[in-house]
Amino acid sequence: MAEEWKQGPAIGIDLGTTYSCVGVWQNDRVEIIVNDQGNRTTPSYVAFTEKERLVGDAAKNQVARNPTNSVFDAKRLIGRRFSDPLVQNDINLWPFKVIEGSKDKPMIVVSYKGEDKQFAAEEISSMVLKNMREIAEAYLGKTVKNAVVTVPAYFNDAQRKATMDAGGIAGLNVMRILNEPTAAAIAYGLDNVGRIGKRNVLIFDLGGGTADISLLTVEENSFEVKAVAGDTHLGGEDFDNRMVNHFVQIFKRWHKKDISGNARALRRLRTACERAKRILSSAIETTIEVDSLYDGIDFSSTITRAKFAELNMDLFRNSIELVERCLTDAKMDKGSVNDVVLTGGSTRIPKVQQLLQDFFDGKELNRSINPDEAVAYGASVQAASLTGMCNEKVKNIVLLDVTPLSLGVDLKSGLMSVVIPRNTAIPTKMESYYTTTVDNQTEMLVAVYEGERARFVDNCWLGEFTLRGIPSAPSGVPSVVICFDIDANGILNVSAWERTTGVSHKITITNEMARLPKEEINRMIKDAEMYKVEDDKYREKAEAKAALENYAYDMRNTVNDKENGAKLDPAGKKRIEGAVQQVTQWLDWNQLAEADELEEKLIGLQLICNPIIAKNAKEQ
Ligand code: ADP
Ligand code: MG
Repeated sequence: MAEEWKQGPAIGIDLGTTYSCVGVWQNDRVEIIVNDQGNRTTPSYVAFTEKERLVGDAAKNQVARNPTNSVFDAKRLIGRRFSDPLVQNDINLWPFKVIEGSKDKPMIVVSYKGEDKQFAAEEISSMVLKNMREIAEAYLGKTVKNAVVTVPAYFNDAQRKATMDAGGIAGLNVMRILNEPTAAAIAYGLDNVGRIGKRNVLIFDLGGGTADISLLTVEENSFEVKAVAGDTHLGGEDFDNRMVNHFVQIFKRWHKKDISGNARALRRLRTACERAKRILSSAIETTIEVDSLYDGIDFSSTITRAKFAELNMDLFRNSIELVERCLTDAKMDKGSVNDVVLTGGSTRIPKVQQLLQDFFDGKELNRSINPDEAVAYGASVQAASLTGMCNEKVKNIVLLDVTPLSLGVDLKSGLMSVVIPRNTAIPTKMESYYTTTVDNQTEMLVAVYEGERARFVDNCWLGEFTLRGIPSAPSGVPSVVICFDIDANGILNVSAWERTTGVSHKITITNEMARLPKEEINRMIKDAEMYKVEDDKYREKAEAKAALENYAYDMRNTVNDKENGAKLDPAGKKRIEGAVQQVTQWLDWNQLAEADELEEKLIGLQLICNPIIAKNAKEQ
């Protein structure tokens, strides 16, 4: 049992809100792996249709046709409760349906093969992770079990555990949950190790859905997160929305028609806007064109980089304000920041770069790492470091992350008693002492909360347990120790014991409300296998159908070809024509034919046609 999981390759996955990216350490460096479309990042999308399930580019590409069954943003739901106001807010914006499941858990409802199906966010994320795993397996030519998966630094306990569960459902051994800014800092630090001494590094991550600012100190192989700040709804999608609204207004002015109620038109316009936005990061003007956008009207209009910046200026400024907040939290002035590192696709926007540079009084921004890939890059380094499959440079990487939120217990006074303050470096272990509040109290309820508010009821409840067997004594006499222990993944264990008797109780905070029970996870793992079988079956069928059609059309073309067709003897030609006709008719009538039936038809057709063609070739 010599740490079996250490065997085989280990990959790094950046599981993004909008795009995901995967890498692996190979030949002494990180390779970012391209997907089957040749792209280095893959949309975090899963779509369900009448016939099949699609993940990644294939899912995003069909969104306009199938908006209600195309799921994205699962990262916004993972580890959260249905009643969470942020979740309620998001639900109003999503085209897909989310309902309240048991224990306040949000469930995504889609129609798959004509049936309503419910999925937890973990399950959708597991499909994205599995897709990333398959991308890596196709590249490496072997099975991949081990992975490091990244999460935003502000993710709480429940969100981290749910992400681990998503990995488990995808059949992955999640070796480590790594904070995204830390991963970016590793990517940045690696190229600068040895050269830079101790430096304060600000990671400015502006992605598709969120803005995440972190301040780290980097020294040799150690990365210590000092503070984090962020906005969970600030990123590329918001910039796309602004451009969409702009063009909706223009369309209204030009054609006196309002397209804002037409989801399909909006979706198509949004796709064009995202493309235009990317172009505007390198060009100063571009044109957007959407054929038959609404009521058969073709839409075409130009937009300049300056106009795009103006549409989003307040949002861009908000992202800079987060930098200020982060510095304040870290009690550091901007002059002490040695490096400003850009990550996240939206940091390619020139105006964002300019505002950030102005904020740092003209300081050069560090662009040495690829913003789309930095997080996956760092995760891949960490994966290699954990399995020992790497060189000396990365072997001894030490990571110091911090707790994003304060952790504590409730006191009878209604106040939250903080055991571990926010931004404490992890792993960590801290103890607090408590006593009884009434005479002869033999039990004590320990309820664990997370958050910054003074009253515990305003914070997030993580879990609770009862410590029993406290010796009878006047109030204030027994001495109860409560110990919070956070491991390297940011996962919390709480224990409590009475000092004189040693009675103890220990729990891993499992966040019962939000976390999937073990049986559910097992069911999902089984389902994931079933979906894979179904996907494979569908693909097999589609391939068999294409092979039959291709062959039939090929034969028809051969027969109809002026030169080659004329060379065939008329009887043979007629036979081929008849057989092809029969097969195409059969295809029309048997849309639901299975792969083996299709293969059988192909063999039948080949048996008729091939000898005729071969005989003809011989006679020539
Ligand atoms: P996340 O991690 O939040 O999923 P990413 O860091 O992968 O997001 O960034 C994705 C976002 O970056 C998308 O909104 C995408 O449109 C945007 N983006 C990608 N390339 C560019 C570019 N060249 N210019 C502007 N925005 C870009
Ligand atoms: Mg990201």
